[in-house]
Amino acid sequence: MIVTGDRVAVAISGGKDSTALLLLLSQLFPAGQDVQIVALTIDEGIAGYREATVHAAQHLARRLGIEHHCISFPDLFGDSLDVFLKGRETQACSICGILRRKALVVAAQRTGATKLATGHNLDDEAQSVLMNVFRGDLPRLVRNSGVDSSGKFIPRIKPLSLISEKEIATYLILKDAWNELPECPYTRYALRREVRSMLSGFEYKHPGTMLHLMESKEKIEHSCAGSVISAPLRTCLTCGDPSSGDLCQVCLLLQSLGR
Ligand code: SF4
Ligand code: ZN
Repeated sequence: MIVTGDRVAVAISGGKDSTALLLLLSQLFPAGQDVQIVALTIDEGIAGYREATVHAAQHLARRLGIEHHCISFPDLFGDSLDVFLKGRETQACSICGILRRKALVVAAQRTGATKLATGHNLDDEAQSVLMNVFRGDLPRLVRNSGVDSSGKFIPRIKPLSLISEKEIATYLILKDAWNELPECPYTRYALRREVRSMLSGFEYKHPGTMLHLMESKEKIEHSCAGSVISAPLRTCLTCGDPSSGDLCQVCLLLQSLGR
């Protein structure tokens, strides 16, 4: 995933997965080596939650001596997520997800990164597989988010994608880096929350369930190679990013939010 000469932007939210990822990468690639590590934090503007996690992220980067950049939704999109979500709370995670993905790409580009690393773990990935199945979204199920045929985006890597949440928690406890932080107030609206609880129950009763889900995804991906119809890539008329229609997902969303 990482090669000599890479400048890896690590997305850190202050939470446990990204903390473990930054600890591991900073240990594997100490300063002064052929791979540079830089940390990025996106401040969506979620009152009562983000302040503490941004602070934890800044503290971690400072402690490890890693260059850290923070970019906020108001800087990029003109307002905080809290403002965007007034009256739309039930769509919180899909709106947040679209804008945060864009913010990460912009932040990574600004820092001159060659790779963008995120702390997604096995639980997150297995939940996504199941959620895409529940939604009947085959293109998204088989899409490899690290691959970009347009060459316009920085390749994304997920070094912890086969490591379970439990293993990450154990690692942090052993490293004395466990940190209790508040939970996002919008989590209660998330489908992921229900899928997470269901999947943890299955994993507990039938160990290996999550890894098997990932294997199933790979097999489906393999057998679908090239056969899933997706619209040819065009260029967004507003921002110039690759898009399947006249406007990209982010510009469409911002338009619907009145921006
Ligand atoms: Fe964003 Fe949803 Fe995560 Fe909160 S729980 S940070 S709204 S994706
Ligand atoms: Zn656009």
